[in-house]
Amino acid sequence: MEEDKSKSAHVLLLPYPIQGHINPLLQFADRLVGKGLKATLVAPVRSRDDIRRADRSALTSTNTEYISDGHDDGLPSDYSSEAYWATLRRVGSQTLGDLIARLNEEGPRPVCLIYDSFLTWALDVAHAYGILGVTFLTQSYAVSSIYSLCHRSILVVQREPGARYSLPGLPLLSLQDLPSFIVQSEGNGFFLDLLLGQFKNIEKADYVLMNSFDSLESKVSEETAEPWSPKMIGPALPLAYLVGRNARSTSTGDDQGRLVNCLSWLDERPVGSVVYVSFGSIAALSVEQMEEIASALRSSKWPFLWVVRIPFAHQQGGNQLPEGFLEATFQQGLVVPWCPQLDVLAHRAVGCFVTHCGWNSTLEGLSQGVPMVAAPLRSDQPTNSKFIFDVWKVGVCAEVDGNEVIRKGELERCIREVMEGERGAELRRNAHRWRGLTTEAVAEGGTSDNNIKELVATLSNFHL
Ligand code: UDP
Repeated sequence: MEEDKSKSAHVLLLPYPIQGHINPLLQFADRLVGKGLKATLVAPVRSRDDIRRADRSALTSTNTEYISDGHDDGLPSDYSSEAYWATLRRVGSQTLGDLIARLNEEGPRPVCLIYDSFLTWALDVAHAYGILGVTFLTQSYAVSSIYSLCHRSILVVQREPGARYSLPGLPLLSLQDLPSFIVQSEGNGFFLDLLLGQFKNIEKADYVLMNSFDSLESKVSEETAEPWSPKMIGPALPLAYLVGRNARSTSTGDDQGRLVNCLSWLDERPVGSVVYVSFGSIAALSVEQMEEIASALRSSKWPFLWVVRIPFAHQQGGNQLPEGFLEATFQQGLVVPWCPQLDVLAHRAVGCFVTHCGWNSTLEGLSQGVPMVAAPLRSDQPTNSKFIFDVWKVGVCAEVDGNEVIRKGELERCIREVMEGERGAELRRNAHRWRGLTTEAVAEGGTSDNNIKELVATLSNFHL
């Protein structure tokens, strides 16, 4: 009986429309479908490509409904984050309300809106239409708690070199370890407002979810005294990558006919021999930084798979490969504009992940037991990097020089440390342990699984 009731509860999920936020919400939607709920992803029309890219590893049973962010035909050439945000809020809340009204009438009537914590206005829309509003934090507990402390003016950052911050449940943090927007707030006021603003109405949310898991951030969750307390449901990755696998996979081909060359290329490489390099879905690296990475990969001599994303229109000049690099390294490595990252990390040929430490990439690396070279750029990445190096001990951290560039020698040293010798072996052991703990959290009866079951029960009761 319980099964049948929960099957009919319908949940809407609203991500902030960028890849790193669409992926976890979409994957979480699939997890809810797996627990018997009906789930619909709600996203701006313009996000179609990002959804297509994300859903490769997702189940197909999540529906999608489109709303408008005011830019259905693409972003304007004079795009600014601030202007986009204002339009998204105005047009998005209107079209989201219209959608809920239509579903309330035509069915299946939604019981709840799970919204990205950046989109605080979505809570008002949910409550205005009589459904539950559940906020979903896509960043780590540590980072969320730092932002929350800043929001409440409990943490005030002094930009003095050598300053150290002792915060509840967190390792001692230097300025470089803090999320970048609270350290370099000049020119970043909009992003800072957005990040701290997540907490302005969080206490009114009916539920707070977080894409992390208890054992990963146990000290933070035990020692912080935030007025909001999240249910950790992560990592919201597809279960096929987490539970029931005995060995890291080799490719079985891509049933959607995309990007198969990168996995079959990995198939031909020895176990643990490939350095996988990716800076996520947004970053565009400078010419200088690209040259340093290219030389480090070349001289490390290890096979490499490097994602060099085609820059957005406003990032012209970024992510340019040095001239002649592809020709000179075609036997050593492969450069792709995008790859199915989870499949790559799950592949037994991959021995090291050079990552910018986006929270999704961090969780994905941990979940697949791949040791990392942390090369953080900005936002929450420096704090994630600190945890990778200092708390979970699954990677080394590549230091930037005075010009904020990671030099060839430094990156090569880090790659060697992860790929070779006793230190590498120790990092692999730790990474393997974290992979086990990730699996434990999401498996039947694990902490994240239990928190999801509790949410499903709440939603099902509300539905009655
Ligand atoms: N990603 C991918 N293929 C790529 C590069 C990135 O599938 O070639 C995915 C990655 O698996 C992750 C997301 O894009 O889920 C990036 O999110 P993250 O939080 O790591 O960084 P962001 O892009 O937000 O900086």
